Amino acid sequence: MHKIEVDAKIDVLSLNKRYAKENREFFRKNNILVINVMGAIGSGKTLLIEKTIDSLGYKIGAILGDVVCKADYDRISKHKVKAKAINTGKECHLDAHLVNHVIDEFDDVDILFIENVGNLICPVDFDLGEDIRVVMVSVTEGDDVVAKHPEIFRIADVIIINKVGLAKFVGANVEKMFNDAKDLNPKAKIIRMDLKEGIGFDEWLDLVNSYVSRHNREG
Ligand code: MG
Repeated sequence: MHKIEVDAKIDVLSLNKRYAKENREFFRKNNILVINVMGAIGSGKTLLIEKTIDSLGYKIGAILGDVVCKADYDRISKHKVKAKAINTGKECHLDAHLVNHVIDEFDDVDILFIENVGNLICPVDFDLGEDIRVVMVSVTEGDDVVAKHPEIFRIADVIIINKVGLAKFVGANVEKMFNDAKDLNPKAKIIRMDLKEGIGFDEWLDLVNSYVSRHNREG
């Protein structure tokens, strides 16, 4: 990168840091657990949020980031929860400033899901003020998808390998994906999942419940 581009990126990131801090203070003040869900288009992010809303008794809200269109917003809204779409235009990630514009509407929720823009590269540098970072991949993306995107897996708290029921049809080796994730990030919780077949979903719900309990304890 040329110096002028490096300087511009430093400016963008320091501004983001300021807004992320502001977001985090707002979330803490209102006792909201915030989960940033990242992953490629089609990995299963929206379905995970929909099923979680239907399965847990908490008051849940969702911010849906997309380059264009409100399809995810329409899906989430059907579940009678507070939802807000953010279209980023040409940007391939949400940033803390965009999120900052809409958080006031979520001051009464227990859990706020933020579905990031669908890709495994751009969201890495942008802290949104979240508590938990989830990275979701589908076996249909190829079993080398984890190894090819090390940065996003290194910053994850939870790594979900979704659609494991399709692995045999697409020739994907789930254990390779699991081990690649483990090598990159030994501390992350890694879940083998298939939302359509119900695999791994209880494990996810237990995890979310444990995050809520921990969050309430720590205040
Ligand atoms: Mg989606």
